[in-house]
Amino acid sequence: MKYDYLIVGSGLFGATFAYRAMQAGKRCLVIDRREQLGGNVYCEDVEGIHVHKYGAHIFHTNDKQVWDFVNGLVPFNRYTNSPVANYKGKLYNLPFNMNTFYQMWGVITPEEAQAKIDEQKAEAVKALNGREPQNLEEQALTLVGKDIYEKLIKGYTEKQWGRACTELPAFIIRRLPVRMVYDNNYFNDAYQGIPIGGYNVLINKLLEGADCVTGVDYFTAKVSDVLHDFEDERLLKDAWREIADKMVFTGKIDQYYDYRFGQLQYRTVRFEQETIDTPNYQGNAVINYTEREVPFTRIIEHKHFEKFGAEVYANPKTVISREYSTEWQAGMEPFYPVNDARNAEIVTQYKALAAEENNVIFGGRLADYAYYDMAPVIQKVLQMSI
Ligand code: UDP
Repeated sequence: MKYDYLIVGSGLFGATFAYRAMQAGKRCLVIDRREQLGGNVYCEDVEGIHVHKYGAHIFHTNDKQVWDFVNGLVPFNRYTNSPVANYKGKLYNLPFNMNTFYQMWGVITPEEAQAKIDEQKAEAVKALNGREPQNLEEQALTLVGKDIYEKLIKGYTEKQWGRACTELPAFIIRRLPVRMVYDNNYFNDAYQGIPIGGYNVLINKLLEGADCVTGVDYFTAKVSDVLHDFEDERLLKDAWREIADKMVFTGKIDQYYDYRFGQLQYRTVRFEQETIDTPNYQGNAVINYTEREVPFTRIIEHKHFEKFGAEVYANPKTVISREYSTEWQAGMEPFYPVNDARNAEIVTQYKALAAEENNVIFGGRLADYAYYDMAPVIQKVLQMSI
C-alpha cells in the first residue's frame, strides 16, 4: 500500500500537482487539515450562491497554456473584474483610468488627464531627484500623484497591510495598472473569468482519482487517521516515508521546520458574512472602501461573480462579505505574507533547508511565503517535471 506522492494541502498547488502526477500514472494521497478540499479557492453554497469563503478569487492570466489547461477541465465565464472605490460616499472606478481621472478632476481627454497627473506628481518626482522610489508612498506619488494617493491608495493600503505606506515595498502598488483609456478592467491579462459552476468544480476535476482525506492536520495526525485500515499510531510526519515515495508540502514552511529560525508573520482577513433579502445589494462584485475611517477594506457581493444581467434577479437574496484586514495570530488563516526585511531574512533561512531536502517538494503561497495569484501557481506546476 504505497503511494508515489503524499500531498499535504489540497489548494491549487497541491490539486494541480495531483492532477499532473495522476496523468503520469502516479498514485496520490491528498490530505487537508480543513473539512473540505480546495484550499483558499473553496466556495460554500449559501442560498444557491457560491460564497468565496477564504476571500474573492478572480482567475486571470496572460498564459494561454494555463488558460487552456483550466478551461479543459471546466469552462470559465465572462466575469471581468471592475472594482469601484467608495471614498467618503463618492465613487471612483478602478483601476486608475480615464473614468477615475474624470471623476477626480473633471478632465475629459487623455492629454488633460496626463497634464493633471504630471502636475500632481511634480513635487514627489522632484523630491526623488532621479533615484528609484524606495517605498509604496513614493511609488504611488510618482505614479499617480497626491489626490489619487490620498483618496484611493493611502487609507486602503494602510488598512490592508496594517503598516504605513512609507514602510511598505513599492512593488505592491505596481500591481495596479494606470491607464489613459476609459477601461475599467482591473487586469491587463488577456484571459479572465470564474469557473462555471464555481471553483469547487475545478478542484474536484483536478483531484478526480486521488485518495483524499480531509480534517487531518499533517503535524498532529497519526498514520491511522489517514490510512483507516492500519492500526499505526505513529505520527504521519515521522512515518510518511513508509506510505509514499515523495511528499508535496504546501503548508507553512516555518511550521514544517518547527519554527527553528522564528515565526513568519502574515496578514489575515476576517470576513463578516451576511445574507440579505434583496436581489442586488451593491450592483458590483467588489466595492473598496478607501478611507481610513471605515474599518473594513471592501465589500464583496458574491453572486456578481457568476450571475449577469437578469440572472442577478432570479435569486431574491444575496450574500455579502465585509473584509477586515488584521495581523495574523496562531489559530487564524494565514493569507498574505508580510513583505519586510525581517520576514525576508527568516524565510531565506527556511528555504535554504528546503533546498537540501530529498523527496520533499515545497510549493504554493504558504510554503514559498510568496504573494501569488492563482495562475502563476498553476503555471509553476505545469512547468515541473513530474
Ligand atoms: N490598492 C489601493 N486601493 C485600492 C485597491 C488596491 O491602494 O482601492 C493597493 C493596495 O496597496 C493593495 C494593492 O493595491 O495592497 C494591490 O491590490 P490588489 O487588489 O491587487 O490586492 P489583492 O487583494 O488582489 O491581493
